[in-house]
Amino acid sequence: MNSIYDLTMEELENYFLEHQDKKFHAVQLFEWLYQKRIKTIEEATNLKKETREQLKKDFSFQNITITSVEEGEGVKKYLFTLNDQEHIEAVLMYHDYGLSLCISSQVGCNMGCAFCESGRRKKVRNLTTGEMVEQILQIEESCGERIRHVVVMGIGEPFDNYDNVCKMIQIINHPKGLNIGARHITVSTCGIVPKIREFSDFPYQVNLAVSLHAPNDTLRKALMPIAKVYPLKELMEALEEYEKKTSRRLTFEYILLKDVNDKEEQARELVSLLKGKNAYVNLIPYNETQHLQFKRSNTIQIARFYDILKKNGICVTIRREFGGKINAACGQLRSIKEEV
Ligand code: SAH
Repeated sequence: MNSIYDLTMEELENYFLEHQDKKFHAVQLFEWLYQKRIKTIEEATNLKKETREQLKKDFSFQNITITSVEEGEGVKKYLFTLNDQEHIEAVLMYHDYGLSLCISSQVGCNMGCAFCESGRRKKVRNLTTGEMVEQILQIEESCGERIRHVVVMGIGEPFDNYDNVCKMIQIINHPKGLNIGARHITVSTCGIVPKIREFSDFPYQVNLAVSLHAPNDTLRKALMPIAKVYPLKELMEALEEYEKKTSRRLTFEYILLKDVNDKEEQARELVSLLKGKNAYVNLIPYNETQHLQFKRSNTIQIARFYDILKKNGICVTIRREFGGKINAACGQLRSIKEEV
């Protein structure tokens, strides 16, 4: 059965039209779901009884449940259990600019990045649009505050679940939906080139982040299997076109792995790769995980790497750390829960 949270405004309008009902019920229902936050369709009192009965027959409501919460400084990590007993996680971060939520897009991930906990386990399935929307709804209810920023950087590769992710964006951005500004939504990809091209025509001003993690193909292929399919040259060309079409600034994520990709010559190589681009680099101190051998670069090395980029005119930040102590790196909580 479809979840009521799977439907965009347009789809809901069509649903009502197909049922010989009024199109404007879609707006009413969005208000019930996303503003008044009803739990059952019975509460939608301005809809006719027959309309409610039909909706009840056609759609499910709650499809995911928070089963544990871990708290750290400025961060909460939520583990969800899905209807089929799978697990996903989302991480809430308290920034000075408001609450930001990192949501999952798949159960597991097929990208197989060498340093990533999620990638150790194959994708079980895509999340539905509703399962992504519900992560936000339920965490807002649990913490009692509005979430202002959403990043799709939890478990999964969002561009391997492209259609559902795009629908989720439409729902959470809609003024009658969660009304989260498009500029406050970020999608992070490991670099699936055809989808980057498709995304440049997606008519919402959302941010795109690209997990780069290496300044050349040899190293990138060793860390990220996707680089064997889409080498840097193709990735950079697609991103250039994306930038031209959208005029949006790109973010490059670069995890610093001790003695792997954190050397000064690699910083200089990164400068040549990115020079002149409307981009900024987010350096991420690696969250070590018990199953993988990679180590975090030490603070001095991180500072050196940062300085080289900065001195050469690249916009760069070092990501503020949130989840290290509570295993908040991609996929860690799910792994612990499932003991693999
Ligand atoms: N598949 C997408 C989004 C999910 S991963 C992508 O690759 O961008 C989100 C980010 O977390 C990626 O940049 C990923 O490389 C990074 N990441 C994965 N494991 C990590 C860890 N242990 N420590 C720090 N960052 C990690």
